[in-house]
Amino acid sequence: MKKIKDLTLEELKEELKTLEEKPFRAEQIFHWLYVEKVKSFDEMTNLSISLREKLAQEYTLSNFNIIKKQESQDGTKKYLFDVLDGNAIETVLMEYHHGKTICVSSQIGCKMGCKFCASTGIAFVRSLTAGEIVEQVIAVEQDIQDKISNIVFMGIGEPLDNYENVIKAIRILNHPKGLNIGARHISVSTSGLVPKIYDLAKENIPCTLSISLHATNNEKRSSMMPVNNAYPIEELIKACKDYIAATNRRISFEYALAKDNNDNLEDAKALVKLLKGMLCHVNLIPINKIENGSYTKSSNENIIKFRDYLNDHGIVATIRRELGSDIDAACGQLRRKNLGGK
Ligand code: SAH
Repeated sequence: MKKIKDLTLEELKEELKTLEEKPFRAEQIFHWLYVEKVKSFDEMTNLSISLREKLAQEYTLSNFNIIKKQESQDGTKKYLFDVLDGNAIETVLMEYHHGKTICVSSQIGCKMGCKFCASTGIAFVRSLTAGEIVEQVIAVEQDIQDKISNIVFMGIGEPLDNYENVIKAIRILNHPKGLNIGARHISVSTSGLVPKIYDLAKENIPCTLSISLHATNNEKRSSMMPVNNAYPIEELIKACKDYIAATNRRISFEYALAKDNNDNLEDAKALVKLLKGMLCHVNLIPINKIENGSYTKSSNENIIKFRDYLNDHGIVATIRRELGSDIDAACGQLRRKNLGGK
């Protein structure tokens, strides 16, 4: 059966035409799905009973069930959702002073193989549909009975490897008649799929692009992130510069600091050289050690020195607060969990 939350408002209008219904019905349905967050077509009381029945024959609402919810001492919540086909995904909710941020997954598993990430080493199953991405936000808002203000595509998966569904999900999340989350409050994070960065620049969606950079030369970056073999640093930086020129949007570079690997002053100098003059921001992440992983966190002293060097040399850099590490919900710690698995 088709999933109704996979459709943008425009697509829903088209589908309703084939059911010989007026387009404004699509807006009513959108309101029920994303503002009222109903769980069945029966609850859409301003639609005729016959339309509700027709919709129920054609579509499912595919509401997620929470399999497990863990809460960190810092208030971060990690959800394990049943995506209704025997698979499960993780979603994280973080509270910052500026509001509630949700970290959504875009795929079940990941193909990128980054050496420092817990999502690596687990077989890739499939990409999530647009509705399954959107449903993570709905299910969390339902659970906390509050609005989410920011969305980051930093859960499991490579969002640009699921390009069309991610774009569609952003359009649904962003729609004023839907969840109404401003594009400027949505960040898409990529390991660096260069052709897709060019595509994203043409979408006219003012979301934030985050690039997982982590190293400044190809040898080191390839050893951490195999995707660098396909799209080396020069091509990646060129794509970023073109993206900035086309969108006038600031790019955020993620740099996870690993002890004795990419955290010394030489690395900071090389980073300044690489990013000098670009409209960008650097987000330093103390790397989270994963099970059997070979990278360990830099010392606080090194992290601060690294940040200060960047700031003193014209690159705006901040250190990301570590949230949820006690429940394995911090950056890179999410992994696909099987139903009933650990
Ligand atoms: N595939 C996308 C989004 C998922 S990862 C990407 O690569 O950007 C979200 C962020 O967490 C990325 O910047 C990623 O490099 C980082 N990350 C992954 N594992 C990490 C770890 N163990 N410690 C710190 N950051 C990590």
